[in-house]
Amino acid sequence: MTEKLYDLDAYASEFDAVVLSCEPDHDGTYRVVLDKTLFFPEEGGQTPDTGILGAANVIDVQIDKQNIITHFTDSELKVGSDIHGKIDFEHRYSNMQNHTGEHIFSGYAHSIYGCTNVGFHLSDSIVTMDYDKQLTDEEISHLEKLTNEAIFQNIPVICEYPAPEKLETLDYRSKKELSGAVRIVTITDVDICACCAPHVKSTIEVGMLKVISSQNYKGGTRLSILCGRRAFENYKSVYSQADDVSHLLSIKQNEVSETVAKLLEERNSLLSKVKTLQERILMQQIAGVDPAAENVVLFVEEAEPVVMRNSVNALTASHPGYCGVFNGNDTDGYSFIIGSSQKDCRDFLNSIREKIPVKGGGKPEMVQGSVKISASVLRNIF
Ligand SMILES: [Zn+2]
Repeated sequence: MTEKLYDLDAYASEFDAVVLSCEPDHDGTYRVVLDKTLFFPEEGGQTPDTGILGAANVIDVQIDKQNIITHFTDSELKVGSDIHGKIDFEHRYSNMQNHTGEHIFSGYAHSIYGCTNVGFHLSDSIVTMDYDKQLTDEEISHLEKLTNEAIFQNIPVICEYPAPEKLETLDYRSKKELSGAVRIVTITDVDICACCAPHVKSTIEVGMLKVISSQNYKGGTRLSILCGRRAFENYKSVYSQADDVSHLLSIKQNEVSETVAKLLEERNSLLSKVKTLQERILMQQIAGVDPAAENVVLFVEEAEPVVMRNSVNALTASHPGYCGVFNGNDTDGYSFIIGSSQKDCRDFLNSIREKIPVKGGGKPEMVQGSVKISASVLRNIF
């Protein structure tokens, strides 16, 4: 098995090792096995470390059941040679902050609400945790508060392989049946969990934890969280958005949601007034239509689809042919609705299509679409 240097020191970023094997893989990559490594492989839902081995870039890192760690590199390494490796520590440290934050949160979720963590994914941008119980917003907020209190308390995070007799006495969380030496991560009075990943050495290094989304998932709850630098980057972006909106509206940041709700209400009320006026204009046109006309076409410069539909319905009630309402102008073209109480509007649309390019479709009693042609040509067609 490969010696796991990341187990001995989660903060080391450079190391020396011997290349045991290097075989070509697909797409011009190589599978490299070393006698020891600092590269944490993709394991337990966490993405692998990235970095370099000599001049080669490490693209992926995998571990097999025999605990042999394979590095996938973009160039060949000489078997038997000494190699200097370097991991991207910024990426690693972000994973350490987020993974430790997850332990604190899941520890409390387990001890307070009896939740078992049944899924975990730590990607390069987000952490998701799945619990087997539904948590209310208040419960999630309570867990978030407790987690941040534990972070501020600067509690040591201890990673160790306890002797079998000690392990038997420990009550620890674990996602699967474990065999062989079990690595236990202890955060005193918060959580004890079996875990193979690198962690920060004290809770304070997590910085903060923020839950950014929650949803019902397979009868339980799926949460997304951000810790450390990622939480800071998120705060910066959210703050800047709130700041922009508050300047645009000339209000304080803590008045944003209240003000936007008021603006939406005003907008909806104005929209409804506009619709009433549009309807009044169309109804006046309808009143002027010859009652004996079989086919009718009306043009309007601006009307909401619902207003156009209501007008077409009013026309088809008293005219047996095709009744169309066209919304727009000769330069930009028209959107339209055509209806009929007795004829198939799709036939009519097809007959127009033979003369001019037109988009649209629908049912026998009503079709809608758009066309770019002058009102006089359309009037002739009707
Ligand atoms: Zn873990």
